[in-house]
Amino acid sequence: MKKPIIAGNWKMNNTNATTKTLLQDIAPLVENAQCEVVVCVPYTNIDTARKAIRGTKIKLGAQNVAWAPKGAYTGEISAEMLKELKVEYVIIGHSERRQYFGETDQSVNARVKAALEAGLKPIICVGETLEEREAGKTAEVVIRQTNGAFEGIEKAYLKRIVVAYEPVWAIGTGKTATAQEANDTIAIIRKAIRKLYNKTAANAMRIQYGGSMNAKNASELMAMPEIDGGLIGGASLKAEDFAKVVNY
Ligand code: PEP
Repeated sequence: MKKPIIAGNWKMNNTNATTKTLLQDIAPLVENAQCEVVVCVPYTNIDTARKAIRGTKIKLGAQNVAWAPKGAYTGEISAEMLKELKVEYVIIGHSERRQYFGETDQSVNARVKAALEAGLKPIICVGETLEEREAGKTAEVVIRQTNGAFEGIEKAYLKRIVVAYEPVWAIGTGKTATAQEANDTIAIIRKAIRKLYNKTAANAMRIQYGGSMNAKNASELMAMPEIDGGLIGGASLKAEDFAKVVNY
């Protein structure tokens, strides 16, 4: 049985002071969670978060990682640096990175490889924009992004990878894909993984839904057979809301 995974994406929110209090508030509320619980915090809050989650169910994640191991890449943070801080998961290719910071399928792939080589667990984000959806290109886009992200990734690494299907039009907008729509698109992503590897690997892959997932809609989304978890933005910033999603 796959263990579902609910991850909070804090984006550029919280200082070290609020990181500590928020995690202290979340921890007791998710103590009996049946799923894996992750918080992906800003780089500057990693050490505070690591200390705050010690002895709890919560696991630590970051929001990006460099493709190079070290060198002249001003502003980047390497996989080894994250490993040293006991980071376990890292979000790669979030649509905000693709939209505002020039992330491409190729750079996503390079970051995934760097993360895997250093022992991190990538959460690879894919998803179509509203324009692409309205043009009937959802399947084409998620297949292209999936093929791109997994290019050259050895089968042995697959167990450490999580995919997040995040329709861009649903992120931070309050609009959620219906549970059926999310399920159907995740099935398309899973089929792409099956084509790249095999049925066993595809079925074992945990694929999350992300996009305005919250306390109200989590249980309906999580009941769908293809949905193995959630990547949660806005609702991960309030302890009660995040806990309700985790305890869907
Ligand atoms: C996200 O940023 O990954 C996300 C899903 O955000 P929100 O839940 O706020 O839509």
